[in-house]
Amino acid sequence: MEENRIVIDRGALLERFLHYVSFDTQSDEHTNTSPSTAGQHVLAKCLADELQSLGAQDVWVDAEHAYVYARIPANQAGSKAPKLGFIAHIDTSDAVSGKDVRPRLVESYDGAEITLNEEGPVILSPAEFPSLSGHTGQTLVVTDGTTLLGADDKAGVAEIMTMAQLLLSDEGRKIPHGEIALAFTPDEEIGEGTKHFDLSRFDADFAYTVDGGALGELEYECFNAAEAELIIHGRSTHPGDAKGRMRHATLIAYEFESMLPPNEKPMYTEGREGFYHLTLMKGTCDMTVCYYILRDHDRALFEQKKTYFRECVEFLNRKYGAGTIELTMEDSYYNMLEQIKPHMHLIRTAEAAIRTVGGTPLERPIRGGTDGARLSFMGLPTPNLCTGGYNYHSRFEYAVVEEMVASCEILVQIARRYAKGVPADE
Ligand SMILES: [Zn+2]
Repeated sequence: MEENRIVIDRGALLERFLHYVSFDTQSDEHTNTSPSTAGQHVLAKCLADELQSLGAQDVWVDAEHAYVYARIPANQAGSKAPKLGFIAHIDTSDAVSGKDVRPRLVESYDGAEITLNEEGPVILSPAEFPSLSGHTGQTLVVTDGTTLLGADDKAGVAEIMTMAQLLLSDEGRKIPHGEIALAFTPDEEIGEGTKHFDLSRFDADFAYTVDGGALGELEYECFNAAEAELIIHGRSTHPGDAKGRMRHATLIAYEFESMLPPNEKPMYTEGREGFYHLTLMKGTCDMTVCYYILRDHDRALFEQKKTYFRECVEFLNRKYGAGTIELTMEDSYYNMLEQIKPHMHLIRTAEAAIRTVGGTPLERPIRGGTDGARLSFMGLPTPNLCTGGYNYHSRFEYAVVEEMVASCEILVQIARRYAKGVPADE
């Protein structure tokens, strides 16, 4: 092993992961409570107790909202190191059940199909999931085909916790690092992971979410996003007597939709291409309501999309009469790249750490939003790191133990690289 490599306690990491996935922490967007489900309190409390027993400082669990915070003190006197944060979420997606997860280890995977469940049968196959082919000889954690696994994001939680265990141990105290802030958050999957996030308690200069997939993934670009509601007022008359009098709201909605660029729709776009997406339309001749989302990675193109959208509304209001269409449009979130750009050392440092553990940085724009994006705009620049999990939000979810170990080492390597301060921008 290279001199600068750090040994991660694989057994402890795996044991933690298997323990955390036994908690049912599925979030639910319909409850209107924070956290959205009671199960998240149970895991939050358990994580806080564990951090106490590891010797972390300022361990605090928000008993109302199920956030957990803790701190690992700097071990360098007079350190210039920035305060670095690591964040993972404790909830799981509501796409598939996360109750009674029965994980199974596939040791030295042979590259063949894996029967998750005889009933069905439910089969995890490399033909359907080509990423599997890259894991021959490695150890996988798979489901029994009836639930998701919860590697999203309990792999991230276990990796942060195992980093804490190392840095707080006698052996780990020899690894130089600055102050490290930790947080575990609820309800990320329903877009509310930052709703009650206490930035001043967390008190970091920069942070990483540990919530990505394959080893090497490093995400710091996402969409700019807006949502729009159109209320279209028609004029209903008896159809037999409608000539020159009826104004059909649903047909005006069709006309509006037909004015949007036909190629700028989700099914025709990828990478950094943006789109207009009609999410819901309901109505009658008398009144029709449409909901749209607008997305673009490029801020200027995003603004252009919104302007064009408004112009279409104005055109139809001139054609059919003022007030025919009422438009409400609001920005939802912005591309975090704007906030990361002044701190590109976060990306350079993570890339170096990924290479140190033998990985290759995989940087792709996210076609969605992240908690890190919201935190970045709250003033805490927060890119996203890999965990070693795959096929999220599905019964075919799996984690690769070797990649989890490497992802955990990446966290420690990043902390070590910041021990002497923020590297100067090249
Ligand atoms: Zn996640």
